[in-house]
Amino acid sequence: MAGYRVRYTLATKLVNELVEAADDKQLNKTIARYGRVDLLCIDELGYMLITRRGVKQFAQSAAAMRKDHCMPIQESAYESWSMLDVPWRAAVETAWDSYRQGGIAVGAVLTDGTQSIVGCGRNQRFGTMSPRGLLSHAEMEALGVVPASKDRARDSVLYTTLHPCPMCLGAVVVARVGRLHFGAFDPTWQGIEQLPQLNDEVQRRWPKVTGPLTGPLGEWLAAVPCLNTNGALVRAMEATAPQRAELARAVARRLGSKHRQTS
Ligand SMILES: [Zn+2]
Repeated sequence: MAGYRVRYTLATKLVNELVEAADDKQLNKTIARYGRVDLLCIDELGYMLITRRGVKQFAQSAAAMRKDHCMPIQESAYESWSMLDVPWRAAVETAWDSYRQGGIAVGAVLTDGTQSIVGCGRNQRFGTMSPRGLLSHAEMEALGVVPASKDRARDSVLYTTLHPCPMCLGAVVVARVGRLHFGAFDPTWQGIEQLPQLNDEVQRRWPKVTGPLTGPLGEWLAAVPCLNTNGALVRAMEATAPQRAELARAVARRLGSKHRQTS
């Protein structure tokens, strides 16, 4: 398979290049240059990834705004990101934080009935200080503050960048968390969505599930957990979604993976 082209830039630099293009010819050249890359890592977007198609769409909409002399170009660049609500952004930022600290890029956030963030966690599977060791999953950290009251627990919402594993999903069911939003499927646990069929009680407690996120952000959240590991997740990704595994390798090469660990 041909390698992916990855480019790292600042959103301001990209926007300036588009805005300051001397004429349409220059502008088209700039758009074409960015259109050739498969991944665009933009700093201010939390290292968001834009696929080849996404880059083109961004560049075209930015160009249209330039022609209309409108300046909210950043809104266009931030489209995927700006559509996310506050808890989602916190979860994505936490996932990236996990990667930067040498862990697996998974982040989770718990909100209460007023949609306020009450819990937040990142994967600390490889952390030497983590009290839970192998069980230090982002969702377990975030779920640590779930209310004991059944009704209040039902009003809780868990946001997690990667679909929960059996342990975390079990905790969601036991705690009666009402809603679960996930960013990307985890191929390690294919078929886990069939768990409600276990019995009526599990079915009754099962949260309302929404996901995965679509577009550039969804692709990003599927690929980044592969960055700091070559364990089961990567093997499952290779088997089920080799293109995403390739994307992850390309990003790792460009960003420089700090740790390669097995799990
Ligand atoms: Zn888990």
